[in-house]
Amino acid sequence: QSQDRVFNFAAGPANLPENVLLKAQSELYNWRGSGMSVMEMSHRGKEFLSIIQKAEADLRTLLNIPPEYSVLFLQGGATTQFAAIPLNLCKPDDKVDYVVTGSWGDKAFKEAQKYSQPKVIWSGKSEKYTKIPAFEELEQSPDAKYLHICTNETIHGVEFKTYPTPKNGLLIADMSSNFCSKPVDVSKFGIIYAGAQKNVGPSGVTVVIIRKDLIGNAQEITPVMLDFKIHDENKSLYNTPPCYGIYMCGLVFEDLLEQGGLGEIEKKNKRKADLLYNAIDESKGFYRCPVEKSVRSLMNVPFTLEKSELEAEFVKEAAKEKMVQLKGHRSVGGMRASIYNAMPLAGVEKLVDFMKDFQAKHA
Ligand code: PLP
Repeated sequence: QSQDRVFNFAAGPANLPENVLLKAQSELYNWRGSGMSVMEMSHRGKEFLSIIQKAEADLRTLLNIPPEYSVLFLQGGATTQFAAIPLNLCKPDDKVDYVVTGSWGDKAFKEAQKYSQPKVIWSGKSEKYTKIPAFEELEQSPDAKYLHICTNETIHGVEFKTYPTPKNGLLIADMSSNFCSKPVDVSKFGIIYAGAQKNVGPSGVTVVIIRKDLIGNAQEITPVMLDFKIHDENKSLYNTPPCYGIYMCGLVFEDLLEQGGLGEIEKKNKRKADLLYNAIDESKGFYRCPVEKSVRSLMNVPFTLEKSELEAEFVKEAAKEKMVQLKGHRSVGGMRASIYNAMPLAGVEKLVDFMKDFQAKHA
């Protein structure tokens, strides 16, 4: 990584691969001889069509997305999908199940209350969101239309390593913070959705991967911008899409393919996460990660200091060494290191060295 860049441990928007940023910079004001920036192009012109089509094709290759699924590039963040999903899949009286393993799952549940009859069938709240339930313990509603999970809780650092089988419905997943961090069997899901701004691009783009037979049943009150049918029929070009963001996502997808695909990416992510969790576990309690070991996130690593009064100093000293955004979410405190795809191994190595030095100074 270049000397003038920091190691950015932010939860999102997060760091992007340096080579992707440099490529975007090199094409910024004249995209491939078009005489225009991507920011200036008509979203209906042949140049932008080639960009969005290539982005979709590369994402399909990366995730091995079956042809029965549509890929949509939307706006409004994952938060908008919290409403769009019940609006598109349910009538107001329909029952749906939510497994709540952290704050994001809880927000999704609360929004669904406006448009359907959701039930929290498991919540990790009483254990401060440090666990994923055993699937055989889940009491799924026999008539639920879908089962909603958040595959990686960004704030609490808990990640599903396998997925529950919905009894009579569909599995719907918010993958915002571990999207494209490892291979996923898309065919197990009815819908996968993710905000781009963690692993695959800048904020402003939300990717929705949806099984085609689920499209076309939206409630009448559904705003046109939330109707999957409208976006599917218009190939994400019903209105002006976030063109530059989609272009950036496309560059990231190309980069992930060049790195060997998501199997290779997962290996790199495991190596980084192992390094950091081992450093925490081997610190004899100086650092602590509250999350149950088997479900620790490869992406977001929350940890606290035994001497909590040192946390502010930890964050400040790390920043002096160009490691930024290590403060935990305001709702949980402590520290959090987000180590998405684009975080180089060198960034995690540097953090681990810093943690050891900090402990030696303060033990
Ligand atoms: N879901 C998860 C898991 C997230 O981490 C976030 C944002 O951090 C959201 C949903 C909300 O996403 P957005 O801000 O794109 O609406």
